[in-house]
Amino acid sequence: MPHCSVIGAGLAGCEAALWLAGRGVQVTLYEQKPLRFSPAHKSAGFAELVCSNSLKAERPDSASGLLKLEMRALGSRLLPCAESARVAAGGALAVDRDRFSAAVTAQVEAEPNITVVRREVTAIDESAPLLVASGPLTEGALAGAIAALAGGQELSFYDAVAPIVTAESLDYGRIFAASRYGRGEADYLNCPFNKEEYEAFHAALIAAERAPQHAADAGLTVYEGCMPIEVMAARGADTIRFGPLRPVGLRDPRTGHRPWANVQLRAENAGRTLYNLVGFQTNLKWGEQKRVFSMIPGLEHAEFVRYGVMHRNTFLNAPAVLTPELCLKDHPNVFFAGQITGFEGYMESAASGLLAARALWARLTGQAYAPPPENTMCGALLAYITTPNKDFQPMGANMGILPRPAAVQAIRDKRERYLALSQAARAAMADWAQLLN
Ligand SMILES: Cc1cc2nc3c(=O)[nH]c(=O)nc-3n(C[C@H](O)[C@H](O)[C@H](O)COP(=O)(O)OP(=O)(O)OC[C@H]3O[C@@H](n4cnc5c(N)ncnc54)[C@H](O)[C@@H]3O)c2cc1C
Repeated sequence: MPHCSVIGAGLAGCEAALWLAGRGVQVTLYEQKPLRFSPAHKSAGFAELVCSNSLKAERPDSASGLLKLEMRALGSRLLPCAESARVAAGGALAVDRDRFSAAVTAQVEAEPNITVVRREVTAIDESAPLLVASGPLTEGALAGAIAALAGGQELSFYDAVAPIVTAESLDYGRIFAASRYGRGEADYLNCPFNKEEYEAFHAALIAAERAPQHAADAGLTVYEGCMPIEVMAARGADTIRFGPLRPVGLRDPRTGHRPWANVQLRAENAGRTLYNLVGFQTNLKWGEQKRVFSMIPGLEHAEFVRYGVMHRNTFLNAPAVLTPELCLKDHPNVFFAGQITGFEGYMESAASGLLAARALWARLTGQAYAPPPENTMCGALLAYITTPNKDFQPMGANMGILPRPAAVQAIRDKRERYLALSQAARAAMADWAQLLN
């Protein structure tokens, strides 16, 4: 009977271990709790939700809902656990985190093909295929071992991320494409402020509510280049106007003048369906980000697919080091799953556990493996993290990363458009899931 090790009994590790065990693989699952806790983990149970208790939307026309439907097609064992621990949350799947963790722990412990070993793993034995799912707070000897395998510099520790919006939600009546001084292509989208708009925005920004700093981040050093926009704004009325919001080298085609201040949006993906707010790394609460950043001209109805965050987040430079099988290019026995790969979010982490488990299973049983089609949410996320990107940052499920056939793009109603994308993705995922059977 094939055997493999899984390091970390978090969301990705449990999902992968249960899936592999269900196919007859003997799994040794290593978990450091309760001998050692990261600053964010508090309980001895598996699949601990360290922050929010929401697993996000369930509607099939939403990115998170689509992801869950695909996970079901792939045989997720965590979703039924989540349902058993559900708490009321409108259209979202939110859980009682203790009951959810208890349900997952019980499933893992009841699985005869899984042996749980409670100890901290400090080295990686690549003599046989194994799965690393130690999460974004991986530290110490294991972090060192991963960094060494991934080429030393290829393990990132980012602490500041700017929000991302969808291209289709922007108001192009206000926004104009241009690079400063007309250099090169018109690579940026520009959101021009007049004086009154800027003053109102600045006042809202410095008064907005900030997220409490997580214990995991105690002692976090913020580099000057990564300073939160609200901290910079608080230094003076014009500080950001001479910093990330400087209008120099730009002319607003609507007025013919240089704007008073200007926010630039930079393409986040090759298809230019997503844009990040340049220089807007922030620690504001998510609701406050939506409220205040929607005051930026042209972003009044912006759809935020990712909010800015500031916390320690250890992840691989996946485009440089990972294959679509989720193993290291130079160490093919070492597979990865979870947030450490750049799949961002609870359900995304679990979904990547399912993908890595399938690839690992194919390797163990000598079968051919092809990644899921790119028009599925899982396939699009996988393509995102393995496509060359010099400013790679983790990415969660969102409709902006799905390829758009012309027929879908022509659908005017956004909900209908998303439903069409979702239907195509589910059909493609059903076929892909069937391949294994
Ligand atoms: C502070 C913080 C807050 C977050 N909040 C949210 C949120 O609200 N919503 C959301 O969707 N996402 C959130 N995320 C992102 C992400 O979804 C979670 O981190 C998620 O838990 C990642 O799942 P994972 O399986 O990759 O890692 P984890 O769930 O962290 O699991 C990793 C497991 O590996 C174990 N482990 C680590 N090192 C070793 C070792 N050396 N030996 C043995 N075991 C080890 C850990 O104890 C842990 O049980 C947050 C991330 C952080 C850091």
